[in-house]
Amino acid sequence: MQYHSTRGGALPVDSARAVLRGLAEDGGLYLPERLPELDWRRVAASDTLSMAEAIASAFLPDIPDMPALVRRAYAGKFETEELTPTVQAGPFRVLELFRGPTSAFKDVALSMLPQLMTAARDAVGMKEEILILTATSGDTGKAALEGFRDVPGIRICVFYPHGGVSQVQRRQMVSQEGENVAVCAVRGNFDDAQTGVKGIFTECRGKTLPVALSSANSINIGRLVPQITYYFKAYRDLAEAGQIRMGDEVNFSVPTGNFGDILAGYLARELGLPVGRLICASNANNVLTDFIRTGTYDRRRPLHKTQSPSMDILVSSNLERLLYLLSGDAGLVAEKMDLLGARGYYTVSGTLLEAIQERFWAGCCDDARGSRTIRRVWERWGYLCDPHTAAGWAAAEDYVNQTGDTRPMVVLSTASPYKFPAAVLAAIGGDTRGDEFDRMARLEAITGVGIPRNLANLRDKPERHTAVIDKEDMLRFVWKLCGK
Ligand SMILES: *Cc1c(COP(=O)(O)O)cnc(C)c1O
Repeated sequence: MQYHSTRGGALPVDSARAVLRGLAEDGGLYLPERLPELDWRRVAASDTLSMAEAIASAFLPDIPDMPALVRRAYAGKFETEELTPTVQAGPFRVLELFRGPTSAFKDVALSMLPQLMTAARDAVGMKEEILILTATSGDTGKAALEGFRDVPGIRICVFYPHGGVSQVQRRQMVSQEGENVAVCAVRGNFDDAQTGVKGIFTECRGKTLPVALSSANSINIGRLVPQITYYFKAYRDLAEAGQIRMGDEVNFSVPTGNFGDILAGYLARELGLPVGRLICASNANNVLTDFIRTGTYDRRRPLHKTQSPSMDILVSSNLERLLYLLSGDAGLVAEKMDLLGARGYYTVSGTLLEAIQERFWAGCCDDARGSRTIRRVWERWGYLCDPHTAAGWAAAEDYVNQTGDTRPMVVLSTASPYKFPAAVLAAIGGDTRGDEFDRMARLEAITGVGIPRNLANLRDKPERHTAVIDKEDMLRFVWKLCGK
């Protein structure tokens, strides 16, 4: 299957190469020339691993042996065999995406990506080792480390901002085990770390290196495809619970940052799954809310630091894929992306905007409302949600109140409340003194909700990766890893 760039300026590649490259040469994102055909009813009736297999095989036919890859990716690594359970909480069905090895939703995709990459590497006959370079603001780094650890033929190096991630997130990364992993703190903020990584890619372009550089960033189609599965899974759960009959439409509310998670929902819809509205939930960084409501995407605004940091984002990369899928016009996408880069905003209108608004609805909530939502959901329905999930919940409520839509609503839950114990504890009126591990223990004592095992063990794990470097030294750090 051929993959094209959303900007039309790169040669098509097969699905294995699309996964290995991540980003197309013209800066665009890869999408298949035609979306695959799938019998959605059959997929929706199968178990979770079979769903994952069917969807990944349909999108990535050039990567062989998908059943084995899926099993290797997921078997025994999640808390439950169904990977992503759903729970009824008051009016909504919560889809828990955080039952993986690092308690964040990125585990679903980052458990699968390493398997896809090694198989793709073999399929195209690539000989050199792959070195994954990733800058992280917290969640991606740990999920990527855990996904890639001890995967043959691949090494991974994660840079995080020194003092710029939470205590839990730092401890998760510096205690990482595995023979092929490196973790390093960079003096500076997340942008410095990300700019440094981009600089290394630029510096190494065209050079003969002992390794092939790649990234685990969410623009890789190999990260998007595994996320389609859980929309089918949630749909099946609703059918099994008798809340819908096969064919009835379901709405989904998605806490959104880079637009990857919600785009997977849109792809599920395109595969035939009866998806009603996709609710795009944002925090105070509501650039997507404005876009979906007005058609103008404007990144010229301050970035707010919020209690849902994984949604603190001004440029949502995967939105580019939606524009391409709805318009079918790479020229238009290239023009809008140029405008976004050059002057910081662009506008879509007419039938394209109508198509977006027909399929998506957008809502946002600030930290104060997020905290009130955590408290209310806990007190009324006994469900403890993290600040990202709370934003999804609030947007779902706004949508129902404003439209009167009575179709069942699934709220995607993207992180364990124990990844953000201070915010959650404060929201439900608990005492937030002490360090993050004290807060976790107190949250568990108050709520009776168990701490995920991977987080409970963290305090006693030895620190294995203690390097702290200046951003100017990142390239040297990587070269040393390559043995240069
Ligand atoms: C990454 C992340 C998101 C945002 O997902 P996108 O695919 O970037 O839209 C939401 N919540 C949590 C906890 C995340 O880690």
